[in-house]
Amino acid sequence: MKRALVCGAGGFIGGHLVKKLKREGYWVRGVDIKPHEFAPTQADEFLLLDLREPENCKAALTLGNGTFDEVYQLAADMGGMGFISVAECEVLRNNALINVHMAHTAAEMGVPRYFFSSSVCVYRDMEPDEPPLTEDDAIPAEPDNEYGWEKLYAERVAMAYGRRYPVKVRIARFENCYGPEGTWNGGREKAPAAICRKVAQAEDGGIIEVWGDGTAIRVFTYVDDLVDGIYTLMQSDLEGPVNLGSDERVTVADLVRTVIDASGKRLKVKYVPGPMGVHARNFSKARIRSLGWEAKVSLKEGIAHTYRWIEEQTKAVHRVV
Ligand code: NAD
Repeated sequence: MKRALVCGAGGFIGGHLVKKLKREGYWVRGVDIKPHEFAPTQADEFLLLDLREPENCKAALTLGNGTFDEVYQLAADMGGMGFISVAECEVLRNNALINVHMAHTAAEMGVPRYFFSSSVCVYRDMEPDEPPLTEDDAIPAEPDNEYGWEKLYAERVAMAYGRRYPVKVRIARFENCYGPEGTWNGGREKAPAAICRKVAQAEDGGIIEVWGDGTAIRVFTYVDDLVDGIYTLMQSDLEGPVNLGSDERVTVADLVRTVIDASGKRLKVKYVPGPMGVHARNFSKARIRSLGWEAKVSLKEGIAHTYRWIEEQTKAVHRVV
């Protein structure tokens, strides 16, 4: 039986990745600084460790016999635009510490395969009608925020260890992942979850406020598709960073409309000033497609699942209060 370590297993994507690896027949150890907030872990073993500390990286990677076959590094101090625009120092310091110590310790301990979760935040801002950027276009670099700069640095750390040690490094640049069992309130939530929450909490016939002007162009990737992509990439021979996201490009206004439609409510939308991020995104998916992967879940379908889950959460909080 193959053994996998999932760092960040108490988080949104890490939690779903643990389930995927269990379905694939792995023995899984999860590690995180906190337990999962929304679902009991399906990992065979779950350790609470702060991965900024090198000795904790070693503890996470230590098994009674042998080494892990695969290590998935998804632990990060992160959130939506509201969070990363104010927590620059935390994002740079905490994530660099985690990524340097995990890549170094995994390589030193003889891990054969190491996955790093990067982001399309490594790319510069784009014009709405620009042709797709390929992975190589991240350099020369001009990320829009410090979260993107740290991801770019951490990619280079992982690749450098891949050159010096016999570890096969795989890197995916995720594009806006959403779905059930992710952060939906508290300030770290991302746009799809925040909009689902606002719509769920609004009275029928009411009004919701959304940051920006609705014209920003994005791709939103359903979490089941994303974890399938992570797994496909990890089993492959594809070296270097790989864009991982759906092909459905929409405006923020389209996203808001999709959520409102899923709710069945009649709501007005008021756009208000707030952290907006870049104007447009458009990335080539040729590399991940070369492995036979493509997103299967449409935005409409994925948002329907996500909206129902977040609506349930808002009702549960209401019942407790
Ligand atoms: P998340 O916040 O739900 O999960 C990250 C997990 O890392 C959290 O559970 C957190 O507690 C844990 N963590 C933070 N600091 C830690 C520490 N010092 N030690 C141990 N664990 C620690 O975020 P997510 O959406 O599941 O993202 C997973 C990974 O994917 C992250 O690296 C993130 O940067 C990347 N990513 C996510 C998206 C997205 O749209 N969600 C997009 C691009 C990249």
